[in-house]
Amino acid sequence: MKRLAFFDLDDTLVDRGQAFGECVRTFCSDLGFDEDVEQWLLGAMYERAYRSDFEKLRERFSLTVPVGELWQRYSRGMADAVISTPAVLSGLERLRSTGWLVVVVTNGAGDIQRAKLARTGIDKRVDAVCISEEIGIRKPDVGIFREAARMVGAEGLPGGWMVGDSAQNDVAGGRAAGLRTIWLSDGSDGVEADHVVSNAAEAIDLLLGLDGAHA
Ligand SMILES: [Mg+2]
Repeated sequence: MKRLAFFDLDDTLVDRGQAFGECVRTFCSDLGFDEDVEQWLLGAMYERAYRSDFEKLRERFSLTVPVGELWQRYSRGMADAVISTPAVLSGLERLRSTGWLVVVVTNGAGDIQRAKLARTGIDKRVDAVCISEEIGIRKPDVGIFREAARMVGAEGLPGGWMVGDSAQNDVAGGRAAGLRTIWLSDGSDGVEADHVVSNAAEAIDLLLGLDGAHA
């Protein structure tokens, strides 16, 4: 039977945190928006960005640029800015070639998450993508993990793993769903993951090193 590995996207398979500040700065300077707009966006979208953030922005700063254009520009900018390392990309390929089903399980808006997946080439290296906005369930709700498993015909999550950087969404959520967990640590205490690593490539190596009995 195939083994099951779920991966978070932002700040797990790609470096959203690093790309975000630069992307917002470029977005604002391209559109001639001032410092107040930039600061507002940096705060509002720190965790995650949705089209509705730009509706709020237009209202707050009486902007005339259509919301669709703002969202499209930002989404394209983020997709261009995020990076997935060669080690992660080849690691995903190795997992699949050694009998793992690989699924991205991410909170966020469908269009921007899919743009990042396509731009980095992750979309061609996974079996399925499960995005909260598209299914109406967000991590840490166990329902999103069940839906992700269903997408690849692995209902019941037998022997599955969840890899991610969020103690709440990925580790606590994954555990609640009966998954074993690998946490990309931010250094905080009291997180009960099965393994702690510093990046996704390390997590993939760890999964590849599991023998059949423990995987
Ligand atoms: Mg994350």
